[in-house]
Amino acid sequence: MVPTGTTPALRATPPNLGDYLALDTSILLVYSLLMSNTTATEKPVKQMTLREFDALFPNELAAKDYLVARRWPKGAVRCPRCGSEKVYALKSRPYHWVCKNHDTTYRFSLYVGTIFENTNYPLLTWFKVLYLMLSSKKGMSALQIHRMIGTGSYETAWYLCQRLRAGLADPEFMQLMGIVEVDETYIGGKDKNRHWAKKSHITGGSAKMAVIGAIARKGNVVCQVIERADTATLEAFIRRVVNGDVELLATDDHGGYRKLRKAGYKHEAVAHMNHQYVSGKAHTNTIESFWSLIKRGVMGQFHNVSKKYLALYLNEFVFRFNNRNTQDIFGVAVAGC
Ligand SMILES: [Zn+2]
Repeated sequence: MVPTGTTPALRATPPNLGDYLALDTSILLVYSLLMSNTTATEKPVKQMTLREFDALFPNELAAKDYLVARRWPKGAVRCPRCGSEKVYALKSRPYHWVCKNHDTTYRFSLYVGTIFENTNYPLLTWFKVLYLMLSSKKGMSALQIHRMIGTGSYETAWYLCQRLRAGLADPEFMQLMGIVEVDETYIGGKDKNRHWAKKSHITGGSAKMAVIGAIARKGNVVCQVIERADTATLEAFIRRVVNGDVELLATDDHGGYRKLRKAGYKHEAVAHMNHQYVSGKAHTNTIESFWSLIKRGVMGQFHNVSKKYLALYLNEFVFRFNNRNTQDIFGVAVAGC
């Protein structure tokens, strides 16, 4: 199951245009606080530079070779339908193979089963968009990407971004261990024009979207758009993503978390209502920093995200965060797309 919720159907119509780059400086501060909080002992990772990107992908063929090597890393192309390695390269059509393990001969290209399938855009364009998306810690708007690489139209850039976000969902999700923080938050709605610190963080209007997340300290984050933050929904999410043997499960004093101890979790809550934010190892600062990052990203880069697409933006932020120590984040992303 995809941990960030269902991926909505995509259409080639972008949301509102806009750009508030003045927000960028403050988001950097939030992010550096976040990273110092969670990766104090981890070495910073040097990611691919633009010069390295250009050297790696001088043309479309280089991009195709790279995709083949990432999809089938052991050097053996496999049939996407049956998994057989007994496939034959079509001499007349590069990057196409034939599998005879079926009733009728099955032909496939390097794109079958990937998000790059059935599009007319050059793979190199996809790769450039992905590179920009992963290079910017707070995300990059489709408008900015369109300006930077000239995708033909803003709509094209928007479409490529959304498909890539769908491709960044983690199919090999594992339950969180260690010290885990769980928290719920609200994104969008009428608060959109307010400073983030002044957001009401309550379900005011129907436009507000509830999101629940869990983060293992120094580990991964998982989050999901939810219909309502009631006890049943919160508990179901926790049972799915948090291992029963965690060292500590920390939340705030939201009533929906009250039964976690009964459910067998080593649960401790901090009483935010009484202005208590840390109690021993129990606090929710890590997940709250992650919410700040998303909210700044949604406001500064993506503006007001519709409910339909919020899960896709979450995919992007979760992927970048969980791969913050991955040297080859680009390659990992391509392999998963
Ligand atoms: Zn086959």
